Amino acid sequence: MLGPIVRKNRVRENQATPARTTKSGERMRRFWRTRAACLTGAVTELQRVTVLTGGVGGARFTRGLLARLGEAYPDGDGGTRVAVTVVVNTGDDMTLNGLRVCPDLDTVMYTLGGGISEEQGWGRDEETKRVSGEIAAYGRGWDWFTLGDLDLGTHIVRTELLRDGATLSEATEFLCRRWRPAARLLPMSDQPVETHVRLAGAADEHPAGSLIHFEEWWVRYRAGAAASEFVQVGLESAVPAPGVLEAIRDADVVILPPSNPVVSVGTILAVPGVRAALRETSARVVGVSPIIGGSAVRGMADACLATIGVDTSAQAVALHYGARASGGLLDGWLVDEVDAPAVPTLAAAGIPARAVPLWMRDVATTARMASDALDLAFAAGERA
Ligand code: GDP
Ligand code: CA
Repeated sequence: MLGPIVRKNRVRENQATPARTTKSGERMRRFWRTRAACLTGAVTELQRVTVLTGGVGGARFTRGLLARLGEAYPDGDGGTRVAVTVVVNTGDDMTLNGLRVCPDLDTVMYTLGGGISEEQGWGRDEETKRVSGEIAAYGRGWDWFTLGDLDLGTHIVRTELLRDGATLSEATEFLCRRWRPAARLLPMSDQPVETHVRLAGAADEHPAGSLIHFEEWWVRYRAGAAASEFVQVGLESAVPAPGVLEAIRDADVVILPPSNPVVSVGTILAVPGVRAALRETSARVVGVSPIIGGSAVRGMADACLATIGVDTSAQAVALHYGARASGGLLDGWLVDEVDAPAVPTLAAAGIPARAVPLWMRDVATTARMASDALDLAFAAGERA
């Protein structure tokens, strides 16, 4: 329910805006303005929202968020005046047949840009696979991973840009000029960071203890090969991409959408500096459970959680992120209605939670989820 917030915003819009000073001065000014607004019952104008996302789950949520913001904070041109930044996991990236493939960035770009295959949730609509058939005929493909013809166009252009010296951020910005997502897409890092999985037992040609790329474990083995750990190869020399830390620090609300907590959000959090920025931001940080009724919705996130020793439950994932009040990340957490019994337990652990419908059936239901997440963020602000 963002209606009351919009009405209160009208009051604020009439107030004089103090002159902009330094960046940290601006942050402090916004923090105190938000606090003062909360104390007096007025709610500050929502200006910046940042989402930390993986592929399908986070992309769908962000599409619903943009729809909701467009209703509540319209820009008069069919979009929203709220600046939304999406920080995207690049741990799934890999090089196939010489092409740089960024599965999560592309899923978010196609979903927000209107080119996604709705049935799959990833890849292009109206896709064909003639080129991969040709590659396979040369014995150079991967029978567990197919690149569609239309999708290959994206990978070819990205690879060309990177080869010519562009950073991944620059290449992403270039690709987005075509898709025009109503949000700014930032890779978590411009340096390659690839998630690998250490196999607990042997699998085909891979001996026990070896590391395989996450996508091979996920797509070829359907996350069914026992894993002992995830390793982010390249993390030591990675830094957040330009704009990532600022997007977290300068946001009014940061949302952890229903993305995989281990290999999507977890990988972004592992980039040096990101976790600290989340702890320090004056934004309210709220999350949406990717687990409903003890199971991973559409996917195999349970196998990832088991590998890091976290139960597959909405409550366990929230506790894994932790309460901001006690050194963790969350100011609030949404669980599905079936997980309502977790709400008092989470509250006792310092994580205000609400139970609302969390199935992303279509854009309208997802927009309601996003609205609930924003409500929770504002409620968290009132308690601050
Ligand atoms: P990926 O990179 O394509 O795996 O996508 P994400 O990491 O962004 O999201 C995957 C996660 O989204 C899955 O592990 C599910 O737990 C979650 N998910 C998918 N559909 C839904 C849904 O309708 N509701 C909720 N709450 N979570 C969902
Ligand atoms: Ca992914």
